[in-house]
Order: sequence, then C-alpha cells, then structure tokens
Amino acid sequence: METVESRGTVTVSVERCKGCELCIPACPPVVLSMSSEVNKLGFRYPELSPGCTGCRACLLVCPDFVFEVFRFDTPVQHEVAS
Ligand code: SF4
Ligand code: SF4
Repeated sequence: METVESRGTVTVSVERCKGCELCIPACPPVVLSMSSEVNKLGFRYPELSPGCTGCRACLLVCPDFVFEVFRFDTPVQHEVAS
C-alpha cells in the first residue's frame, strides 16, 4: 500500500458522458476506469476508485463537463494499492 495526499475529489455526472475515454489516461494516479454499464445515452462512463488527488486533469480534458472538482480545506491521506 502507498499513501497519497489528496487535496480534493471529483463528482462524475454520469449522464453527461459521451464515452470518449479521454479522461482515463489523463488521470495521473489512474483512479478512473470505464464502467461496464452504460448511461441513458448508451455510453460507458468513468468510475472513480479511491485515491483521487483533486488535480483537475480530468476536468480539463473532458469535452462534456462531466467532472466537478471539490477542494478540501485540509489535505486528506489515502491508502491506495501501489
Ligand atoms: S472525458 Fe468526459 S465524456 Fe469522455 S469518457 Fe471521460 S467523462 Fe466521459
Ligand atoms: S481530479 Fe485528478 S486524480 Fe482525481 S479523478 Fe480527476 S484526474 Fe484523477
């Protein structure tokens, strides 16, 4: 296990996603993976695993404004698989 410091986290507006997968390789700690289920538009969407650092990379790359980033007042330590 590895400890990472997180300064925030994201919400995923699943129903806005068009399934382009740009966010998956953009996430530095690799905590996004595509769902096996589809949304109402028929697209797979990203699911968030523990370890998001609030870096905003997914928000910047997503063309459909699926992500919203929240900053914590105090950074939080996460245990993630290394
Ligand atoms: S970048 Fe946005 S639209 Fe593309 S798969 Fe990720 S969340 Fe969906
Ligand atoms: S904010 Fe950064 S760490 Fe969190 S899901 Fe998006 S790209 Fe990954």
